[in-house]
Amino acid sequence: MSPPVILWFRQDLRLADNPALQAAIDSGQPIIPLYVLDEESSYVRPRGGASRWWLHHSLAKLTEGLGERGARLALRRGPAADVVAQLQRDTGATQVFWNRLYEPAHVERDRGIKVALRDGGVDAHSFNGSLIREPWEIQTKTGKPYGVFTPFWKALLERGVCGRTLPAPARILAPATPIIGDRLEDWMLLPTEPDWAVGLRKTWRPGEAAARQRLSDFQEDGLTGYASMRDIPGRPGTSRLSPYLHFGELSPRQIWQAASSWGQASGAAAEGAANAYLREIGWREFNRHLLFHYPGLPDRNVNSAFDAFAWRRDETRLRAWQRGRTGYPLVDAGMRELWETGWMHNRVRMVVASFLVKHLLIDWREGERWFWDTLVDADPANNAGNWQWVAGCGFDAAPYFRIFNPTLQAEKFDPDGAYVRRWAPEIANLPDKYLHKPWEAPADVLEASGVRLGDTYPAPIVDHKAARQRALDAFADVKKGAA
Ligand code: FAD
Repeated sequence: MSPPVILWFRQDLRLADNPALQAAIDSGQPIIPLYVLDEESSYVRPRGGASRWWLHHSLAKLTEGLGERGARLALRRGPAADVVAQLQRDTGATQVFWNRLYEPAHVERDRGIKVALRDGGVDAHSFNGSLIREPWEIQTKTGKPYGVFTPFWKALLERGVCGRTLPAPARILAPATPIIGDRLEDWMLLPTEPDWAVGLRKTWRPGEAAARQRLSDFQEDGLTGYASMRDIPGRPGTSRLSPYLHFGELSPRQIWQAASSWGQASGAAAEGAANAYLREIGWREFNRHLLFHYPGLPDRNVNSAFDAFAWRRDETRLRAWQRGRTGYPLVDAGMRELWETGWMHNRVRMVVASFLVKHLLIDWREGERWFWDTLVDADPANNAGNWQWVAGCGFDAAPYFRIFNPTLQAEKFDPDGAYVRRWAPEIANLPDKYLHKPWEAPADVLEASGVRLGDTYPAPIVDHKAARQRALDAFADVKKGAA
């Protein structure tokens, strides 16, 4: 048998449309599939709890999929550069394949690994497995990266999707001697005491097969109404593909191909719906573009005028926000949905983020950290990019004077109260008129609905009008400082 090659899985936990896997198969050599859990390298930001839960199940599914094709996933733990080098030496592998990541620290690490392997006479090949176009492929006319979404999106559409999607292989040639790795259970990715993942288990089925199923369900039931329903959190109007995309159980190319061919085949209205959807995939691409070109995105204000901003340290209100006890029903419903399911609707993410940063004047990085720990789709580019956008300090950001009114947002986007009633059941009996502003309900209405403000449900932790003015003043100071 010829010497093996290593196929290093990272954020591409799938068998279909996986260019690195395809290239490894094309080599004709036996394949050692590898996943490395690197929690030691200084540049690695440890995954949050919800993300570790997803990773466990995703790796279990990948192991199954590989097993059905005759291969076995080797799980190894440690600094990735050392693990890859060691496995290569132990097995005599002559080539290593992977799909590229775009976080600057990973880019640098991978470059180092590539050089070290090549210096040792081992071929290293990397591919684009997670983007429509890579960050360096989209540039302004003067060769600069984009900082504004709309021209970026136009440029991306002009370049179009690279290549066609690849099918999953039927068989994968394994080396004669099986490679021994860790047991997934020993990585302790799942919570035990307490087991807080009940809601995650009820809500999600990680893995490539479930990702494909969700895409096809969405294509059938959700895509047509996407543009009009995507902002209504009480209805299943969005694809909920974000964790699958983050872990690479589905590629954006597969989504692009599915949505655009469906749009073209189903008439002008469908094409419009497909384009509205693909534009969101465009935001995902844009955030990766930003992170690649601006490594500070996860923790440094893009607009440095915000460095002087006097964020408030307020543990009590931060905790009230985290636990969904602010007294603003839409904010509380969102934060509870997040806690229970590891996901939150995009419209509500914007409202809760704006509330933290503008009503409470708490640093966006606190919110980013909480999301990082609790989201199953926690993603360095999308999370930080969106938090900075809401805070007003990011690229192409929302202007500082846009302060969402959580009550008006609720009345507009949850008009029948389906979302708030689901996640804040203690106020579910309030009539629609008061559901989104219980503090305005007369005493007899509260009593008839079984609500005691400040007891069964919190009174608002800040007054909207006063908080809005305070935020406007504080943000105007930043603007003056920047002028
Ligand atoms: P759909 O509406 O069906 O969109 C399809 C896909 O497009 C999504 O799966 C996602 O990959 C991408 N997408 C949609 N909206 C955005 C957006 N605003 N920015 C970038 N990509 C987008 N998304 C994450 O994947 N991970 C995060 O950690 C994350 N943190 C966020 C934090 C804040 C404060 C805000 C306001 C948004 C954040 N988002 C994040 C973006 C967005 O909320 C989610 O991607 C979306 O809600 C996922 O649901 P969906 O798959 O049903 O989206």
